[in-house]
Amino acid sequence: MFSWKPESMKAPGPTTRLLHTLYPLEDPYGSLNFPTYESVAFEADTAEELEAAFTGQTHRHIYSRITNPTVEYFEAKVQQLTGAYAVTAMSSGMAAISNLIITLANSGDNIVTSKHLFGNTVSLFEKTLKPFGFRAKYTDLTDHGKVAAAVDPGTIAIFFETMTNPQLEVAEIRALSEIAKKNDILLIGDTTLTPPSMFRAVDHGIDIEVLSSTKYISGGATSVGGLLIDYGTYDWSRFGKTREAYEKFGEMAFRAMLRKQVYRNMGACLSPGSAHLQSLGLDTLALRTERSMSNALELALWLESHPKVKQVHYPGLKSSPFYNLAMEQFGEKPGSLLTFDLDSKAACYSFMNRLEVIRRATNLQDNKTLIIHPYSTIFAEYTDEQKMDMGLRDTQIRLSVGIEEAEDLIDDLEQALD
Ligand code: PLP
Repeated sequence: MFSWKPESMKAPGPTTRLLHTLYPLEDPYGSLNFPTYESVAFEADTAEELEAAFTGQTHRHIYSRITNPTVEYFEAKVQQLTGAYAVTAMSSGMAAISNLIITLANSGDNIVTSKHLFGNTVSLFEKTLKPFGFRAKYTDLTDHGKVAAAVDPGTIAIFFETMTNPQLEVAEIRALSEIAKKNDILLIGDTTLTPPSMFRAVDHGIDIEVLSSTKYISGGATSVGGLLIDYGTYDWSRFGKTREAYEKFGEMAFRAMLRKQVYRNMGACLSPGSAHLQSLGLDTLALRTERSMSNALELALWLESHPKVKQVHYPGLKSSPFYNLAMEQFGEKPGSLLTFDLDSKAACYSFMNRLEVIRRATNLQDNKTLIIHPYSTIFAEYTDEQKMDMGLRDTQIRLSVGIEEAEDLIDDLEQALD
């Protein structure tokens, strides 16, 4: 239904493809932006047409919690960008992760992952899903021996973040993929810090990509959203929970279960207004990520040379233990998030309070540069011991670098540090 427009062109680039994704129907006004269909319900001419839609014999929009034209168009653009088999847009990054796990896991199943994860993801595994019999097994994903040893007969997937937030740890994805393949389990990557304009997940063996489109994709913190991107690389006839659905839906088994049993029933759909904003954000994704990454490197180098800064973590710095791997895996695009340490929590707070351009706020990959003290905010629900286990320190500050002029950001950092 959706395709790429100039069909004579042989191999258009990803941004060209997404910008020129065809509409499913001709727009009566020739609108260059896909309209926002702010409607809950869509009528049919006959009762028979409604029956055909409800029984899945025809595809048409009936109710916006299930599908909506504007959301579907956003999904089609992401599909053009990534070349994925299927894309599902959701109400947030957390909705994408939770819908995915609920679709895949039976009670008693587990995933192998790391404690170096976004705090709410750990909380989802430990507080929300554990009572239903789901288990997350934590290990060091940079140690392949430990990952292989952690996989057991109840393991359904290896789950990791391509660049962890906020530790900025980078695992070797090819090695994780080999372990997943050997054990016939899924490799799931949260690519929030390395979205599709920076990193082609499928080329590295990731079967399913989840990410928070709230971040880079939304175009500057315009709306909350999440994406679940399925590359169609996994054989669902061999997977415990989808085996039965495979008889009916074939290679669409996972998609059918996700859409009909979880996405529809849990109701974490993306709103049409947010889908419109995220569609516009997607158009400029490649440009914005380039600018924020070059700013991040400039700021990281400047901070590294400042006497009051104890250490800087940024995978684009040669001093990072992940420099070579990040450069190779992410095509020299090490993201725009960095952390640095000052002498004490008090020093972090007084530095942050003096900033005039950089904003004190959570969120990342906004167009504006944002700063936060992760230990006392995002991870506030954990004990000091748990935080240490997660690789966090109360001397650490997280900086999400935006697209302002780098010299203005450096001036602001300088006056606040001095
Ligand atoms: N995954 C990672 C790595 C994140 O950093 C975040 C949010 O910061 C999420 C998932 C959750 O995204 P959302 O806030 O859109 O639910």
